[in-house]
Amino acid sequence: MALPPAVELRRRNRAALLEQLHRHGPQTRAELTEALGLNRSTIGALATDLADSGHLQETTGQSTGSAGRPSTLVACVPQSITVSAVEIRADRLRFALVGLGGEVLERSETALEEGADAMTAVAGLTRGTAAAAVAAMPGLVDEGTVAHSTELGWVDRRVAADLEAATGREWKVVDTATAAAVGEWARGDAREARKLLYLHGGRGLTAGLVIEGRAQRGGSIQLGHIVVEPGGRECECGLRGCLEAEMEVRAYAEDIERTTLAAGMGDGAARDWLRRSGEDLGRALGAVVTATGPDEILFGGWLRELYLSTAAPVRSALAETTLPHLRSKLRLRTPVLGDEGALIGAAETGFEAVFDRMR
Ligand SMILES: [Zn+2]
Repeated sequence: MALPPAVELRRRNRAALLEQLHRHGPQTRAELTEALGLNRSTIGALATDLADSGHLQETTGQSTGSAGRPSTLVACVPQSITVSAVEIRADRLRFALVGLGGEVLERSETALEEGADAMTAVAGLTRGTAAAAVAAMPGLVDEGTVAHSTELGWVDRRVAADLEAATGREWKVVDTATAAAVGEWARGDAREARKLLYLHGGRGLTAGLVIEGRAQRGGSIQLGHIVVEPGGRECECGLRGCLEAEMEVRAYAEDIERTTLAAGMGDGAARDWLRRSGEDLGRALGAVVTATGPDEILFGGWLRELYLSTAAPVRSALAETTLPHLRSKLRLRTPVLGDEGALIGAAETGFEAVFDRMR
C-alpha cells in the first residue's frame, strides 16, 4: 500500500537530513536549511523528531567552513545506525563497525592462515545489529559473486550467499578497488572528481570506477588481465601477455619496497624492471581510460610505490594510447586514505544502502 504523500515526503526529508549530516559533519540549522532547500520550520521539526528517535543530538561548536563564535550544531549520534565493514585479503581480514557520521566505533584485524575459510573468520569478527554489512575483496565482483580473483584464488564463488550462510545475515559484496574509490570520494579528498578510477595493487591488479561517489554495477575492472603483449608470457588466467604476467606482479606484491629502494640506489636491473612495468601499466591504463573516460586516477596498494617511482614512463605510455581529449582533463595521483580506503569505502557503501532504504 502506498504511503500518503505527506508521510512519504517526511520520510524522504528525514533520510536527506541524516545523509547530509553523515557526509558533511555537524551543521547549524541555518546551514541545513540552505543545504537541503527546506524551510526553517521543516528543518526544526525534522531535527526534533530525529533527536527524539535518538539519531541526532545538539552540540556546541564550530561547523566546518564557518568562522566566528561557536554555535549550536546538529550532529549525528554515531551508535544510532551502524554498518559492519569487512575487507578480505589473501592473508588477513579487517573489520570495522562504523557509526552514523563516519566514526569508527570498533575495529579489529585477524590473520588468515593458508587454507582457512574466510567466511568462518568473518562470522567470528562480526556480531551485533548493524543496519548493513558490506564485504570488500579483490577481484571481478558482480551481484554478490566473485567471478575471478587472482589474489583469493576464487572463480565464480557466490560470496554473498556464503557470507549469509556463515553469519545469518544479508551481505553486500564489492571489489576492493571500487570500495577504495568510494572511500576516497566520501572521506578522502576526491570529492571533486566526477568519474574516479582507483587502481588497486595486491597479489593481482584490479580497478574500480565510481561516478559521483556511487559504485557502478559492473564497475569492477580486471586491470591485471588486459593483454599488453599479445602472445607474451602465460598468465594464470589462461591468456597470454596479460599485464599481471608481463609485470610479474607477484614479485612486486612481495617486494615493491626493496625494488624501489634498489632502483633509487642506482641498481640498473631494478630501474629497468620498474621502467618496463611503468610502461606496461600505462599502456593497459590507456585501454581503461579510453573505455571509461575518468577525470581522476588514484594509484593504490603497492601501485602507489610503483607510480611514485615511475610516473614518467606511466604518463608517456598512457599518452601513446589515449585520445588527447580524454587525457587533457585527467589527473593522476596517490590516494590519501592509504590502506584504509577499502574498509572505509565498504562502510560508506553500506550507509548508501541504508539511506536508500529510508527514502
Ligand atoms: Zn591474465
